Amino acid sequence: MQEHVEHLSADVLWATVKKGQPLANAYVQHTKDCRDCREFVSEFSMEARSAGFSLPDLLPETDRPQSNSATSTV
Ligand SMILES: [Zn+2]
Repeated sequence: MQEHVEHLSADVLWATVKKGQPLANAYVQHTKDCRDCREFVSEFSMEARSAGFSLPDLLPETDRPQSNSATSTV
């Protein structure tokens, strides 16, 4: 069962940063499927931090690109 959310917008990210909370789970799930949003979030985080905002990691650090999909146990 998948929960569909819209692409992340700067408004959503700003609201999240202002609340000082991690990204809502639905959005985290979305970024796993949507590379554009994943890059958007990471760029947004860097820019916000360089602008002086302290914010939690918006995405789990374990969310890495998969490069070893050659062998899967299907
Ligand atoms: Zn997206």
